[in-house]
Amino acid sequence: MAKPVGDSRSNRAAVQATNDDASASKLSCVKKGYMKDDYVHLFVKKELRRAPIINRGYFARWAALRKMLYQFLDSEDGNMKKQILSLGAGFDTMFFQLHDEGKAPYLYVELDFAEVTSKKAALIETYSQLRDKVGETASISSEKGEVHSDHYKLLPVDLRNIDNLNDIIAQANLDPSLPTFIIAECVLIYLDPDSSRAIVGWAARTFSTAIFFLYEQIHPDDAFGQQMIRNLESRGCGLLGIYATPTLQEKENLFVDQGWQVLKLRRELMTSFLVK
Ligand code: SAH
Repeated sequence: MAKPVGDSRSNRAAVQATNDDASASKLSCVKKGYMKDDYVHLFVKKELRRAPIINRGYFARWAALRKMLYQFLDSEDGNMKKQILSLGAGFDTMFFQLHDEGKAPYLYVELDFAEVTSKKAALIETYSQLRDKVGETASISSEKGEVHSDHYKLLPVDLRNIDNLNDIIAQANLDPSLPTFIIAECVLIYLDPDSSRAIVGWAARTFSTAIFFLYEQIHPDDAFGQQMIRNLESRGCGLLGIYATPTLQEKENLFVDQGWQVLKLRRELMTSFLVK
């Protein structure tokens, strides 16, 4: 039986639905000219127009990640093989965009619940614009929720199970010694704090040279935060992690406690933790 995402405030289907929300909001931004994304429309069933404040928030999220990713991909050792590992990637289209820009890394790996990766694999199989980017020789299984190609992998996993994550390293052909950019964009906040801590520690132990890009909600106690939590909980998406690390400083402490070197990465980390 499927494990619930956390407690009674949160359920698996509702947390997965936040991915549909994110895609619809990104498409709203694209339509208004906040950002360019030639692929997100393929992942949205019902087009929505978001309020300007939402569009701006998504623009900030998109621009922050992009800035950091470019720094990583363009860094001196331009010829060196690099990897991107996206945790809870949902229907994110970054791989396809980077591919168009000639910036795709040696290996791009996306992980999510099987329900989500199955839908994504089916869409990749359906649309030639996507299929062409993952490569003609890719093996795509919407049943398993998997895509395997030389430079792109989509795999189903429950991030809360660290043993599964270890298996993923082998399945995805990730090389822990290569520079790796780990993305967790509005994902860990939905997990119980023990699971998030375990993932942050696992990533620190597993990869020898890595950047961890975390983008998620903070400040549950101000008026904005209280309303945000009420809205999400009414949909069954408790932000289970928000009280354990309610501020930027506490998120930073979590990373330091788990072995990340903030001093070395301070500038990156400070720009990484943005209020949603
Ligand atoms: N990172 C994407 C999607 C964010 S929505 C973006 O920013 O657009 C959050 C995603 O995290 C959903 O797709 C959800 O299915 C995934 N997720 C949440 N808990 C997870 C878990 N325990 N294991 C795997 N994926 C999870």
